[in-house]
Amino acid sequence: MRIAIAQFSHETCTFCPDRTTIASLEPYVLRGRGMIRKLRGVPNYVNGFLNILEPYNNIEIVPIISVGMAPGPYTSWFTPECFNKYCTEIQQGLKQAGPLDGVLLALHGAMAVEGVPKPEAEIARRVRQIVGDIPVMVTLDLHANEDEELTQATTAVFVLKTYPHLDSQEIGEAAAMCLLDTITGKVKPTQALKKPHIVSASIFQASDFHPMKTLYDMCRQWEEHEDVICVSVAPGFAYADVPDIGMSVIAVTDNDLELAQKITAEISATAWNLRESLNQKLPKTKQAVSKVMQLIADKKGPVLIADGADRTGDSTHVLKELLAQGAQNFGIPGIADPQAAAYLAANHQVGDKVTIKIGGWASEYSGDPVEVTGEIIFIGRPEYRLVGPMSKGRLVKEGLIVTLSLGNGNYVVVSERMRGSNDSSGFTAAQIDYQKLDIVVLKDRVHHRAFWDSYCNIDFKIDAPGIGAVNLRSLKYENVPDNAYPIGKDYR
Ligand SMILES: [Zn+2]
Repeated sequence: MRIAIAQFSHETCTFCPDRTTIASLEPYVLRGRGMIRKLRGVPNYVNGFLNILEPYNNIEIVPIISVGMAPGPYTSWFTPECFNKYCTEIQQGLKQAGPLDGVLLALHGAMAVEGVPKPEAEIARRVRQIVGDIPVMVTLDLHANEDEELTQATTAVFVLKTYPHLDSQEIGEAAAMCLLDTITGKVKPTQALKKPHIVSASIFQASDFHPMKTLYDMCRQWEEHEDVICVSVAPGFAYADVPDIGMSVIAVTDNDLELAQKITAEISATAWNLRESLNQKLPKTKQAVSKVMQLIADKKGPVLIADGADRTGDSTHVLKELLAQGAQNFGIPGIADPQAAAYLAANHQVGDKVTIKIGGWASEYSGDPVEVTGEIIFIGRPEYRLVGPMSKGRLVKEGLIVTLSLGNGNYVVVSERMRGSNDSSGFTAAQIDYQKLDIVVLKDRVHHRAFWDSYCNIDFKIDAPGIGAVNLRSLKYENVPDNAYPIGKDYR
């Protein structure tokens, strides 16, 4: 048996300034056996495929290509050249592979391409052009914007059920197992997709909490049914301005379309009733910082401030407010500012006291540059492995970073690239002892909770200005359908 695997995965933030180009993705592309060497042994979709396929002596795995997101800031619309180049490579790889029995495709679901309204469906159709009518299974991130075009072009679609994303390997395994069962005739996957027409900011999509937990509990309950293979809810990615934006409910059954449709209708109806809890109002920066400082004073800390809106990494709104209100013991692991980082590294050394303006340059939402004064405690390009539950063991190679100790127990890292720290490793690598912090500030929405909920007592969500704004009505959408709650024309 011969099975091809390929990954073409991107979460495109169409409100960001820079296009997604070949030049931006190519340094991180893996091809052929290199893809297996690099992705094996770390929790991810491809490793899940390999876990199922590799133990069989009679299965030949044909690895084609892995194209993913580049580290650093989010990027905007794919150029058609970029999309076509990697689609063509997948097609050529499939052609060269010769006869195949099945294909496993790890996609993301939130790719946005100039001139290609539904890129993942298009990838699947181009795969079909080459391989014909053999089983094609797709895995998706839950930040996926999809509609029936994808389910029509594929045999079965499997979506993450955890945010923070902890089940990518499991979903990869489920897709590979279903592929084998399909090839051997044990099952006949039949899928339905329904869109409840709800769009929501990522920060409200954590899977362990209401409202998403309610929907995932329904999926798991349906998966107990003997004719059900997989039930998924992808809440979607609000920051891609695309026609299939928003939540999708997908059910895969064993040859029972009616059951698949019943399931998607039932879950979609419940989701519609939860639409307002997927679009809450959060405190603005100034009010949020003052509330957080009150929580610290009341000994309720440590507190994590989740500034989910910053998709370029240079936003200064929270830093400015923390300094203005005299906060103590805060740590910000990254204000992206390549010029400031390069200047500090070229002209200073550890131990120097410096005053410099940082951040506030990438977009109209970034805020103004903020002047900070502090002592340099680290300069370098650290390499380390992640230690938290998400992608544990994955090697991180950083751009240039400079850590400043600002006094009062406060730290900020000036970084060449957008820099987060969804576990403690990013702080440790920057020489910051996170266990002394009362306030941890991250430019993140939910992923950090896999680690930081074990240190911080409160996860404080805020509505700061940003390309990834919590208030979706503040963004200028042009391509979304009128009935997309709360951003379509019907709700304006
Ligand atoms: Zn995601």
